[in-house]
Amino acid sequence: MTALAAVWSGTSFSLQRVPLPDLADGEVLVEIELSTVCGSDLHTVAGHRSTPVPTVLGHESVGRVVAIGANATVDFGDRVVWTVGTACGTCRRCMRGVPQKCVDLRKYGHTAISDRWTLNGGFATHIHLLAGTRAVVVPEDLPAALLAPAGCATATVVCAARRIGLTAGDAVVVLGCGMLGLTAVAYALDRGAVSVVACDPDPARRAAASEIGATAVCAPEELAEVARGADAIFELSGSSSSVAAALDVVELGGRIALVGSVFPSSAVAFDPEFLVRNLVTVSGSHNYAPSDLVEAVEFLQRTPAAHLLAAAVGERHPLEEIDAAFASGRSAVRGAVG
Ligand SMILES: [Zn+2]
Ligand SMILES: [Zn+2]
Repeated sequence: MTALAAVWSGTSFSLQRVPLPDLADGEVLVEIELSTVCGSDLHTVAGHRSTPVPTVLGHESVGRVVAIGANATVDFGDRVVWTVGTACGTCRRCMRGVPQKCVDLRKYGHTAISDRWTLNGGFATHIHLLAGTRAVVVPEDLPAALLAPAGCATATVVCAARRIGLTAGDAVVVLGCGMLGLTAVAYALDRGAVSVVACDPDPARRAAASEIGATAVCAPEELAEVARGADAIFELSGSSSSVAAALDVVELGGRIALVGSVFPSSAVAFDPEFLVRNLVTVSGSHNYAPSDLVEAVEFLQRTPAAHLLAAAVGERHPLEEIDAAFASGRSAVRGAVG
């Protein structure tokens, strides 16, 4: 038995046959049902983000367990999603609640392949999950397009919401309406936000946010008018002007989650007296803890926006057409392979 992987060389993909791994203690082999193309995959392929090569990209997937090592935490046949990386559970970072920064972190879709760990990303027929990966069993009746983004977009939003203490009654602003932004709109409503203003330069993305239930949508230049007095702000675009805009519209006691700034951008000036006198919290949030993935899957099961979030994922392309999936990921909110 072999697997097929789309191996990224740094300049192009090539399909390669790979032997299935012998599983060690706690390891799991998953047959991939669907992987979605995250913005960071697009950045890598566009040359805006460096990654060790050769590698198998892709870290948003859903699949089925087809082999388990001793002491695995899931069963043969389970349909699962899994964390974007491993965590040892015992290092200082793991013990202090940031397992996504474990000192022994190994990340799917971001690591050069080795003889021992070749199937280490989502754009393949199979993925080799290492011990320390949290796999979460998901229901059979949810669409793959809804579940695949759980392991990056959905869980990242849940973590950011946790870090800024998103609370019922908050007036929420969402800056950037890609997959994370649409998810943040739905999650804020799910958590009892009193209003959700969604901001994006792209009218189609604003329309998608509106359909999910945003109480108002606007272009960046309209934000100051539309979104005054925000209690909880999700900055998901990474644009410096958008980060500055978050500081402009935050309410007294407000909390800002900076999530989108995962690539270099220009520095943003802030007035410390404003932050102090207005009791403002600015919280950086990157990736998530395993418990956030559990909450993400529960949210996807209960949200009335499930069909709309699934619809944000574009047409499915087979692995042989991975370039087309990436091309569609530049226009749809998410490209899809599987
Ligand atoms: Zn991602
Ligand atoms: Zn650790």
